[in-house]
Amino acid sequence: MAKKKRRNTRSAERISALILVLAFMAMSFAAGWYFGVRSTKYRGEVLLVNDKNRLSADYVPEGLVNLYQNRHSFRLASSEITLTRETYEAAERMFHAAEEAGVNGYIITSGYRSYHRQEEVYAQSEPGKAQTPGASEHQTGLAFDVTTETPNGFESTPQYAWLSQHAHEYGFIQRYPANKADITGISYEPWHYRYVGEEVATQIHKTGMTLEEFVERNR
Ligand SMILES: [Zn+2]
Repeated sequence: MAKKKRRNTRSAERISALILVLAFMAMSFAAGWYFGVRSTKYRGEVLLVNDKNRLSADYVPEGLVNLYQNRHSFRLASSEITLTRETYEAAERMFHAAEEAGVNGYIITSGYRSYHRQEEVYAQSEPGKAQTPGASEHQTGLAFDVTTETPNGFESTPQYAWLSQHAHEYGFIQRYPANKADITGISYEPWHYRYVGEEVATQIHKTGMTLEEFVERNR
């Protein structure tokens, strides 16, 4: 009788231990799932500028850097072009990497534009060709236009092909992709790149979302 009781106690202990192990496994799984899902959700902030999300007339980004005085790995269409320091440094890393891969000849044609400058650009452009003041991404200092010396369009160059594959690794997205004008409000601009940081750029690159869709999903 005493023997049997001991055996019962022992099997009860075994069951308790098993329950503990199972509970621990379930908790680990739940925690892994929870933090896994959480980590795929973007928690930062990304500036969205378009027709519906306008910058005020007095918006000036902090820490603009003159590219002419700093740049090493790309050329410039003017000595007046500026970008925020973070954007410039990311662009420098990106074009340096392109150069290392044997792809060079990039020419940045436009960077930061003030509200006043965008007013001039808008006034001088054909209807529908330029953003109204306040709605241009160039006013953020986070976007630039790039080209090469090519008689054909930029999108037919090896420089464009390299950027399409690698820009996200340096935090840049092609902001106005083909066939997305219904969402971005801007038709295809293969030359316009926007700095959003590597995490966001990689998510956008992988999913093929626009910045509008990304911001909407992570609101
Ligand atoms: Zn542009």
